[in-house]
Amino acid sequence: MVSRVIPVDPFDLVIFGGTGDLARRKILPGLFRRFVAGQMPPDSRIVGAARSDLDDAGYRALAEAAIAEFVTEAKRDPAAIAAFLDRLRYVAIDARGDGGWAALGALMRPGVVRAFYFSVAPALFGDLAERLHAHGIADGASRIVVEKPFGRDLASAKALNRVLAGHFAESQIYRIDHYLGKETVQNLMAVRFANILFEPIWKAQYVDHVQITVAETVGVEGRGAYYDTSGAMRDMVQNHMMQLLCLIAMEPPYHFDPNAVRDEKLKVIRALDPVQPQDIVRGQYLAGGGQGGYLEHSGNPASRTESYVALKVSVSNWRWKGTPFYLRTGKRLRSRYSEIAITFKEPPHAIFDGEKGWRDNVLVIRLQPNEGMKLMVMIKEPGPGGMRLVQVPLDMSFAEALGEEGSDMPDAYERLIMDVIRGNQTLFMRGDEVEAAWAWADPVIAGWEERGTRPQGYDPGSSGPEDALMLLHRDGRRWREIKE
Ligand code: NAP
Repeated sequence: MVSRVIPVDPFDLVIFGGTGDLARRKILPGLFRRFVAGQMPPDSRIVGAARSDLDDAGYRALAEAAIAEFVTEAKRDPAAIAAFLDRLRYVAIDARGDGGWAALGALMRPGVVRAFYFSVAPALFGDLAERLHAHGIADGASRIVVEKPFGRDLASAKALNRVLAGHFAESQIYRIDHYLGKETVQNLMAVRFANILFEPIWKAQYVDHVQITVAETVGVEGRGAYYDTSGAMRDMVQNHMMQLLCLIAMEPPYHFDPNAVRDEKLKVIRALDPVQPQDIVRGQYLAGGGQGGYLEHSGNPASRTESYVALKVSVSNWRWKGTPFYLRTGKRLRSRYSEIAITFKEPPHAIFDGEKGWRDNVLVIRLQPNEGMKLMVMIKEPGPGGMRLVQVPLDMSFAEALGEEGSDMPDAYERLIMDVIRGNQTLFMRGDEVEAAWAWADPVIAGWEERGTRPQGYDPGSSGPEDALMLLHRDGRRWREIKE
């Protein structure tokens, strides 16, 4: 299959926080890969901006080191690296000071797309928005990209929305959720809305339940102090998992258009029932395997922050009434494994005798590792001896199905940055969506804080706390195995 790269318009992209971890690990390597793919017009420029005292050469050295560390060797052609680095500039700027802005303004060119990536702590978003305007650097066509976390509750998200709205229209604000940039996640929409096969049975009448799992093997070591102020509900569920849930549950939008898609997602969030305390299990990983536990890693021996959460969510609308969505995510679990599994109901009538080993049809959308989809179906077990049934997967690994192109899919960040340059907001969260998600999550978190309950300990390398099993057992269901 021939790879199709659609070039974007020439741009000036300013990365505030251009020396930080995210810029080095994701943004700069991603831009370099887009450059190699031929998607970046030759006269586009990337400007790093941070307080560090660097010049262009210093910033290019930083970018070169980032490419060496985070881009696969096969892609690191020295001539391409040199040509890419040539597009880089650096300006020393303190988001809270007034130095450097005039120099940044002087670098901006008329007639090209102007985008500003806020890859700094959220406390600085307002300062950046304000100064970009005060110094006349941003205009009505400029775009800003805003990183997570977008607030820590409804009040702070509203405040942040207000600050940004003071300087930018909603159509200029790109709130990034890198889960939406994943190939499989977008494929979820393609599978639903570009095929006749699934949509007719995509409803409570035929879907028994949905499981969304995001399992990580890493703990919070290194960023424990930050994580302890957040927890799995804020860090993963309110944003990433909520977005996945929305894409599964939403009605077909009238068109694949930014506001049409986001309107439908918003309706899902608004249809979520409040979560009851008995429908949530929180966990904290214990010490084990020669490593400290959460309490040690967070540096807070009395911490009640969850490194794991499992919950049952109900979408109260015509399509989904009665079909539970079970969500779970956690750190230091058995493997790094993320999937969405849609389990369908049994056929209404059994025609084969003694249907031993009957298993449900399940559509599994794998996010990592090895993005792909598989549909579990029942077939006849080969050989004589009557009609014995066996479950087999119709498996599609994107890497295999799409050949070279599939094994070299753009990373979520690079895809989303190109969408910013194109001016396509479909895969970015709108302000009202974020607020609605917080309005749903806030009472859950407030309930924990009021009750002061401790999360249940779980062993590192396990599939989470014992009580999480009960969440499904009592409904006569089971979690899918977190694969090795
Ligand atoms: P980081 O490594 O701490 O980098 C922060 C960046 O901000 C540095 O370039 C720093 O450079 C710059 N900075 C700090 N104070 C500044 C100021 N007053 N004015 C101008 N620049 C300033 O943080 P990060 O991990 O890259 O994260 C950046 C943002 O992305 C955060 O909002 C984070 O929540 C989000 N995020 C990060 C990741 C990740 O994997 N790292 C994932 C998801 C979201 P100087 O010190 O030179 O100023």
